[in-house]
This record gives sequence, structure tokens and C-alpha cells, in this order.
Amino acid sequence: MDATFQKNFRKKLLDWYQKHKRDLPWRRSRDPYAIWVSEIMLQQTQVATVIPYYERFLKKFPTIAALARAEEEEVLALWAGLGYYRRAKLLQRGARAVAERHGGRLPDDPEALRELPGIGPYTAGAIASIAFRRPSPLVDGNVVRVLSRVFARKGHAKDARLQKEIWALAADLVDPTQPGDFNQALMELGATLCRVALPSCERCPVQGLCAARRGGEPEAYPESPPPQKTLRLQRAAAVALRGESVLLVKPRAARWFQGLWGLPHEYCAEAPATEAALGECLRSHLGLALLRPQALPATTHAITQHRITTWAWSGEAQGRLKAAGPYEEARFFTKKELAGVALPNFDRKVLAAAKLI
Ligand code: SF4
Repeated sequence: MDATFQKNFRKKLLDWYQKHKRDLPWRRSRDPYAIWVSEIMLQQTQVATVIPYYERFLKKFPTIAALARAEEEEVLALWAGLGYYRRAKLLQRGARAVAERHGGRLPDDPEALRELPGIGPYTAGAIASIAFRRPSPLVDGNVVRVLSRVFARKGHAKDARLQKEIWALAADLVDPTQPGDFNQALMELGATLCRVALPSCERCPVQGLCAARRGGEPEAYPESPPPQKTLRLQRAAAVALRGESVLLVKPRAARWFQGLWGLPHEYCAEAPATEAALGECLRSHLGLALLRPQALPATTHAITQHRITTWAWSGEAQGRLKAAGPYEEARFFTKKELAGVALPNFDRKVLAAAKLI
């Protein structure tokens, strides 16, 4: 890469960042652990949603040692509502690995970071550059968009060839003296000005260096990925009540959300899912029947390319509770207990429709 271009790009981007960066809680910290937590929470989740979760999480688990010692259920309960619970499980496994292998301190080397559970190339680059000032690149969706435009590189965002090119460009560009600020500036530019649609090129600090801007078609980069087929799934779920308490189950093997409590349910081939399919599941695996079941409004939820519709019934549970077949545990939770349980978001929606949360 041309040295003058490199120098100009870094200077313009860093000057702009110093003036325009958003004041975010994790930007006030140099604690590698706090930066790690924020980076994991920010994967797949909006900044505004993350802020209160980040603050609560660090209050409860202020150090790697505190997170490593915690019960998994405590960690998941604090994550409840953020979704993608696998991130929380891996974060805790990572904390335990740091406690065992590195004496409770995160290593500063990106390669050593990548050997920890839940830390991929992006997170390793973020921790190494932001917390330890190592000149490590990072690439996320925002960086792919900005750099594919600046260098007019063809391909769609997930395309392996384009990803490889963008990583190489990011590695060449990263500022050796302020790598953390540089990486955050690139992402900030993508999040605020270099948006997917209608980028604000006229306010962009690197507009004079941008090939896509010169070509007059910035939105053409990166290209749209080939459309993914939507898979529609139907579920029948039970809100089985005993007085004010509601039944939750832990499946032995879940399609999603392994290890979490959730509503008893059955996937169905046909839409709408019927109460009959659910009745058989309740009887044979939980020893229960629903007395005078009331249909709740159907709810929908998206997970990756899946669109899941849940048809739910609520009623008083009759019978002697057992956990068999696909369920390893089953018990009734009071309303107060329910508030502290990590639940899959599609079940949260059903419980909200039943006015239980
Ligand atoms: S000039 Fe426009 S397209 Fe190029 S990086 Fe800036 S905002 Fe993005």
C-alpha cells in the first residue's frame, strides 16, 4: 500500500474520530476484561440495547475471577433478553480458561487470545488493539463495508475471498501508535456515516481517498449476498399453570438454547400447530394435561434464516409432574422466580402474551 495514502487515511480517520466518537461506557475503560465483555455483547446486538446489560454484568461480575466462579445459571439470568446465550456460556468458559491458563489475566497476544473459548479473530483483534495497544487489525461488517468502498473491492460481505482481502487491507492500514482508536474509528465510520444505504459521503473524513465515492456508486459495495431461503417452523407450546406458578422444562438436547429453561413445546409439520400435538407431549413426557386450555395469540420469532411461529395454550396443569423423554428437568416457577430466569426470546414472547412477564 502506498505510504502517503496510508498516512493520510490514518490521520483523517483518527482526527475525525477524536471529534465525533460516541461516549460509550466501554470506551471509558482500559480494563481488558471490560472490553472483552463489551465486544461479546455487541456481537449481533445494538449498542443502545447492550449498555444497561454491560453495566449490570460488570457490577455483578467485576473481574474474570468473579465470572469464572459464578454459577452458569446466574450468568445466563443476567444475559436474559440479550439473546444468543451461547455467547454468555462461551464468555464464562473463556473466563475459566483465563483463570486456569493465564493466572486470571487476559494475554495481550492476539494468537494466545484466539486460543480461548469464544474468542475469534475479530474479538482477539479488538482486545489486543484496544486494551493492549497491539497493532492488530479487526474486521466486522462495518469494516468490510468501509474498506470495500474505499478500495472498490468486489464481492459480497461474507465472501471468503473478499474477507481475506479486507483483513489484509485492515492489517496494512492499522495505525501502529493508536491501533485501538484506529480500529474503533473504522467501525464508527461504518456505523454512523458509511451506512449500508444512503452513506453520508459529503461528511466523510476519507471521501477524498474513497474509490467508490469517486466512481459515484458507493452503495454498490459490498454486493448483496445471494438470497437465503427462509425456513418456516411451527411450534405448539404450553403455558401450564399451577396457581400463580408456570411450568418450565429443560430439554436434554435443544435445537437452540441448550441448557436453558423454556416452555414445554413440540415442533409441528403443519400450520397452524394444534393443541392435540401438544397434549400428547404433555401427557407422555410430563405426566400432565391442561384443564380448559385457552389459545394465546400466535407469536413469531426469527433465528438466523428461520421464522418460527409459536401457537400456545394456557391452562391449569393437572396430574403428577415428571420429567421424561426429551426433558431432563421440569418444575413450576413462581412469577418472582420467572423474572430471574434466562429464557429463550420466543418463550418470553409467549409469556408476555399470557401477561406472566
Ligand atoms: S466516502 Fe462515502 S462510501 Fe467512501 S468511505 Fe466515506 S461514507 Fe463510505
